[in-house]
This record gives sequence, C-alpha cells and structure tokens, in this order.
Amino acid sequence: MSDIINILPDSVANQIAAGEVVDRPASAVKELLENAMDAGATDIQLIVKDAGRTLIQVIDNGSGMSDTDARLCFERHATSKIKQAGDLFDIHTMGFRGEALASIAAIAQVELRTRLHDAELGTEVVIEGSTVKSQNPVQCPAGTSIAVKNLFYNVPARRNFLKKDSVELSHIEEVLRRIALIHCEISFSFYHNGRLLYDLKAGNMAQRISQFFSPAYKERLYAVDETSDVVRVKGYIGKAEFARKTRGEQYLFVNGRFIKHPALSAAVEKAYADMLPDRSYPSYFIGLTVDPSRIDVNIHPTKTEVKFIDEHAIFAILRAAAKKALGQFSLASEFEFNPSDEIDFSPAPKGYIPPEPKISYNHSYNPFSSSQHRENVSHKDTREWDNFFDTKPVDKPAFEPTVEACTPTLPSLETQQPSMTSACMQVQGRYIVSAMASGVIVVDQQRAHERIIYDRLMNRNAGTTHPQQLLFPVNCSFTPADADIFNELLPDIKARGFEIEPLGQCTFVVTATPTDVADTELQQLFDQTLAEYKSSMLQKFSNRDQCLCRSLARQMAVKAGRQLEQEEMQQIMVDLFSSPMPDRSPDGRKTFVVIDPKDLLN
Ligand code: ADP
Ligand code: MG
Repeated sequence: MSDIINILPDSVANQIAAGEVVDRPASAVKELLENAMDAGATDIQLIVKDAGRTLIQVIDNGSGMSDTDARLCFERHATSKIKQAGDLFDIHTMGFRGEALASIAAIAQVELRTRLHDAELGTEVVIEGSTVKSQNPVQCPAGTSIAVKNLFYNVPARRNFLKKDSVELSHIEEVLRRIALIHCEISFSFYHNGRLLYDLKAGNMAQRISQFFSPAYKERLYAVDETSDVVRVKGYIGKAEFARKTRGEQYLFVNGRFIKHPALSAAVEKAYADMLPDRSYPSYFIGLTVDPSRIDVNIHPTKTEVKFIDEHAIFAILRAAAKKALGQFSLASEFEFNPSDEIDFSPAPKGYIPPEPKISYNHSYNPFSSSQHRENVSHKDTREWDNFFDTKPVDKPAFEPTVEACTPTLPSLETQQPSMTSACMQVQGRYIVSAMASGVIVVDQQRAHERIIYDRLMNRNAGTTHPQQLLFPVNCSFTPADADIFNELLPDIKARGFEIEPLGQCTFVVTATPTDVADTELQQLFDQTLAEYKSSMLQKFSNRDQCLCRSLARQMAVKAGRQLEQEEMQQIMVDLFSSPMPDRSPDGRKTFVVIDPKDLLN
C-alpha cells in the first residue's frame, strides 16, 4: 500500500485550530482586546459592525510591533510572551499560546497597522485566509490597529451558525465586561454600527459597575477588601435582597483574568448562608490577586478555568471576606428572608428602624365581589377546583413544559362540593396550606403565582392582560446594548399589557402595566427580566415568547417571604387550578403536593 499521510498546509491547520479559538465574533474580540492589554495599552477602542460579522476592529496605544513582528505575529505558535515551558508557571499576560492571530487570519480578512513608539513609520500587513496579500510601510499612530473583516468568510458552516445580531452582540458585550470590570486603569470605548455604546474612562470598579449595569448598583453593593499572605480579595458583593434568579452577574477574576470557579463561587454564596431567597444568586464582582506561580491557567483553551494550589485557604479567606462585608447588615436581611414561626426576641440594634411592611399583591381583590376576571373564569375555576380535590400531582420531567403540550387530565368527583371558601394558612411565609376532602394541600406560593402570571401572559387573547394606566408615568433606562434588546422585545412586551414608548435612545416611558405589576418596581422588573432573558437565550435554543413570559412571570410573582392575606391566598388557589397545568411552575418545578392522611396509617 502506498503512503497516505500528508502534512496539512498551514492554512488548513490554522483553520482547524481557529475552530477552537474563534467560535464566534465575541471570541475574536476577546483575543484582540487581550493582545492590546498585553501590549500595555492604556486606551483601547473596539469598533464593531453587524455584531462582528463584517468588522471587528481594535485600536490600541500599546507598544506596537516592529516590521518583522508585524509579519510574524500571524504565524502559529508565534508569541513574545513565553520562551520556554517553565514560563508557563509564571504567566503575567492574558495570552501566551501564540495562536490567536494565526487563527483569526485563517478565517477572515485582516488588516494590521502597527508602529513602535520610537519608529517613524509603521507597517501595514493585509492577510486573508492565512495568505499575506501585502506588507507596506505606512504612516500611522503609535500602537496597533487590527481590523478583522468578514469573519468566517471562508467557513460557511460557522457563519451560518451565528445567532441573531442581538445575541452575538450580547456575547461581545459580555467579553468587554469581563475585561473592563477588572481593568479599570484602561479606558475603553465600544462602538457598534457607528453608535457609541460604552465610553469607559479610566477609573475604578464601582464606576465600571455602574456604567455596565446601572447607577442604582451603588446602593446595591457592599465593598469587600481583605489581604492575606496567599490572596488579596477586592471588589463588591451584592446585598441579599438584590439577588437574581440567574448567575449572570457573578464576576470572579484572578490576576486580572475572568475565571469560572464553581468552588470559589460557592465560597461567596456560602457567606450569605440563608439570607438568600430560594433559587436566587447574589451578584458579585471580586478580583483575587495571587502569586502567578501558585496558579495554573493552562488547563483550558479558553482560559476561564484556573487551578489554585492554595484553593482551600483561598476558599476560606474569600468566604470570610464576603461574610464580613455582609455581616453588619445580616440581622435585618436574615429576618426579612427567613421568616419562621420562631420570633426573635433579641433587642434590635441601636437606632434600627424597622422597615415598613410592603405588600403589593392585588389589593383590589375582594373574594366576595365578582370581578371581571372571576366572571370570565369562575365557571371553569369551580369545576377544576372541584376536580382537583382528588388529584395527586403528576410527576413530569422538569424540562421546559409548554402550556399547550401537557394538560393533565383531572378526574372528576361529582360528590365533592366546591370549597371556594376553604380557609388557607400560610406557613413559613412561603407555603399555602389548605384542607380538602382527600387530605391537605401544600402550595408553594411563589411557584404557583409564577404559573398563574405566565399563563396570563402567554394567553394574550384571554383579555386578562389589559393595561392599567399608571397615575404617574415611569421612566426606565438601560445600557445602550440592553436598550437595543429591549427595543427588539418591545412589541412582545407591549402585547403583554404594558404601554411603553421609547424616549430617547436608552430610556423608555411606561404609562400602563398589566394589573399584576401595579406596585412593582418597574426598572428592577425590566432589568431582571432582560438579564434573565439574555441568559436563557444564550444558554439554549429557547422559544423567545416563552422565555420572555417566564422571565416576566418570575419577576412579577409574589415572592417567598411575603405575608399574604386570606383572600390573596384563596385567589392564588382559584387561579392556580384554573390553569391547564397547575402542577408545575413555568420552569417545570412542582407547585404543590397533596398529603393524604391515609398514607400516614400505612
Ligand atoms: P499570544 O497573545 O498568545 O502571544 P497572539 O496570536 O494573540 O498570541 O499574538 C501573537 C503576538 O503578536 C503576541 O505575542 C504579540 O507579540 C504580538 N501582538 C499581537 N497583538 C498585538 C498588539 N495589539 N500590540 C502589540 N503586539 C501584539
Ligand atoms: Mg493573544
């Protein structure tokens, strides 16, 4: 048999390698920003068109490159950052593999202009699909500009896999956040399609957080600052009451690099003990500084995973630092989020003013008057509430159920009287317990309410999402990138009973809301909805409508810990069992269990 092994040409090898390094525009952005930082830039501009499909350009005022380096930097394993294997254990730069530019040049048309600070002329290199098209001296500012055009122009499979612009743009924005939140000494500006989305001057982390998220964050965070032999911990952690339903706002950095480290994230979360509401995650922005020889960043190609030699010590210090930051306020928060039957008789701290209790759930409801909504559904309610009495929760897999897909059939029990006035009791501030002929039902108030609101929002024709005019219009503002997404979602949000109009580029005015949101803080409602919407759209192929309604429902639902009036509890019971799918929350969790006394006797 003849020889069959070929050595692949560089262009093909680079294209294969590019598959690992550059899977979407955001990863090219990350590599270019990191190179600019490694070159010591203090000012970096990121210019993107069409969410990075047609142009990603990074302009920096860093060291620049010599003529030779300008050509060499596109070779595989070309790096100025390490020289020998031993250097891998003392990494001070963001990059070190020497494969990013080679990969990018394999799958795009790249124009590099670069000049050393003490050189008179710079160099321009044009390279396309790993082939150098030209290299010429040019006049250009000191530093480097790299323009990456038509990414994946020669890899249609990759190109076709790109998501909608808003999704790709969110990824790019996230890359920028992961870098700019911790490199506050560098100024960044970010343009998308000619619009300046972020203009971040050199400053501090608090400023960056408020620029990326919202100025309101100043009131939502505590500072953390702790130094020990093994690690310095510095940053901010969110107050428990602003915890979110997603882990989206958890930023952990080590030596200026964003990392994912489940154990260290757990250390922060543990600091909150039981201050956090069910299934919520605190926001945090924490930079760790450790001796580079005590970590290994070389274990994952995208370099967000890191191994620490002193993991146990760092875990303990991080948790202690976070606890300390939260400590002084934990009494109030713990009481608020962990209501139990035991009353705490210890004296309040001096000067402590108890917060005014606030309930914003449907004050206008009167169980004895027939509201419009009750009239609409009361017949069905009665039947299903009735039927429900003999029903055990149906065990369904906890994956995105759709209202249409699963409709449990509830057996009917003719002899059962509807028991609309059956008294309800609230337990631990989060469960509604009620007696029924076949036993006792325990309903999770928050999940049940999520189901009710979700059904209403999804079923827009039911006439239950009629906008209710606000006495005073409310303005909501977003970051420019979020405002773009919000604009895109606007028709869907409006269809759910909100009346909202744009007011300038990043601000919207809300003049009416669905009845369920009457008292809710709208800015927070939309902030959290957007955050959740973005993360669920990024994580999986989701139905956009379901995604939006699920996020809205979660924000609008009564929370665990909210004391409910008798009639509010009864309303929840009635509404829940008029749902075609009462036994699951919109994200598939059980809403209730029925305890049959007979089970106790077996
Ligand atoms: P790595 O960053 O892993 O070394 P890259 O392919 O990203 O590999 O870059 C290759 C080399 O090109 C770098 O080591 C650096 O010397 C040079 N380089 C890349 N971008 C810049 C820049 N913006 N300014 C100066 N030098 C750069
Ligand atoms: Mg690099």
